[in-house]
Amino acid sequence: MDNFDTETRGYAVLEAKAPLVPYTFNRRDLRSGDIAFDIKYAGICHSDIHQAREEWGGAIFPMVPGHEIVGVVTAIGSGVTKFAVGDTVGVGVFIDSCRECENCLAGQQQYCLKGMTGTYNGYERDGTTVAMGGYSNKFVIDQDYALKVPASLELTGVAPLLCAGITLYSPLRHWKAGPGMKVGVIGLGGLGHMGVKFAAAMGAEVTVFSHSANKEADAKAMGATHFVVTKDPQVFTDNAESFDLILNTVSAELDINQYLGLLKLDGTLVVIGLPGKPYEVTAFNLLRLRRSLAGSMIGGLPEIQEMLDFCAEKNIVSDVEVIKADYINEAYDRTVSSDVKYRFVIDASTF
Ligand code: NAP
Ligand code: ZN
Ligand code: ZN
Repeated sequence: MDNFDTETRGYAVLEAKAPLVPYTFNRRDLRSGDIAFDIKYAGICHSDIHQAREEWGGAIFPMVPGHEIVGVVTAIGSGVTKFAVGDTVGVGVFIDSCRECENCLAGQQQYCLKGMTGTYNGYERDGTTVAMGGYSNKFVIDQDYALKVPASLELTGVAPLLCAGITLYSPLRHWKAGPGMKVGVIGLGGLGHMGVKFAAAMGAEVTVFSHSANKEADAKAMGATHFVVTKDPQVFTDNAESFDLILNTVSAELDINQYLGLLKLDGTLVVIGLPGKPYEVTAFNLLRLRRSLAGSMIGGLPEIQEMLDFCAEKNIVSDVEVIKADYINEAYDRTVSSDVKYRFVIDASTF
């Protein structure tokens, strides 16, 4: 068993809606199956903001957010076989699950029937230890829930793959995005920009629906063929009944009926963004053309690994703005106002 100094520096939200502040805490001592790693970068996902600002309810404070994490292994437990000191590893939205339900056994740990163990803002499987996330300089995790990061990928752009990346990769694979398919991505933020890169790399024809006209050149550089500014209602008539698959990544409320109208026969609109309020759906929009409204949540461990390997093969990473820890609160405000290109990533050496 390697020695491991458990003292960890990070940033936390001490109460709902409060700004993030420096925070020191202890990671657990290494169990036999654990790896410890020095975090190099941690992405800022809009889900962090929803939770830090208590927009979903039920949050646990103090909260150290962060579920897009990459780093380098510094110590391993006596039973670790999958990783060695010096390996580059990634951690996403969950750190554990029951390991025995049918979904866990099928590699769909995000849909664990007993509930996945979130990377933060939840309790570990002992039911009492509060999990602390990636806005920190060290992490400890069971080897079975860490991912291997391909060495060829530019590390600053890797952290966002662990949530934003897999969250778009998984529905694109599930609904079989590929040549001959018209795929729409609503919202060119952290999630949306990964969706554009993946859908284009899979061979689909990609259209971005955005409320920010100034993102057109970026969207096209990422692989989009069309860019639609949604402020003009005419665009919903112009694009009606023409899409196979639309992925809604918008973090705010949205008139989902407008987008259902863009689907062709048997088309699917996938809900990915998580505003706190329910959507209102007009039944007629679903019945007409036998449309489906679906949801999708991150991805399981085998699929995350597949996505990382796909990224290595296609040389895909996130477009990031690297920040220091003391800029997190400004980064939150800029993300909420859609002013992010296209993911903020915290340099963990600044904690
Ligand atoms: P983000 O970087 O803030 O991107 C969201 C994008 O939505 C913005 O860049 C903007 O794109 C658009 N948008 C924002 N406010 C809008 C408004 N008022 N009207 C219309 N469009 C607006 O957020 P993210 O990190 O990608 O996360 C997006 C959502 O997905 C969040 O709700 C997050 O909690 C959720 N999420 C879900 C999963 C899952 O497993 N399903 C995983 C991670 C995150 P334009 O400027 O292009 O319009
Ligand atoms: Zn996330
Ligand atoms: Zn399970």
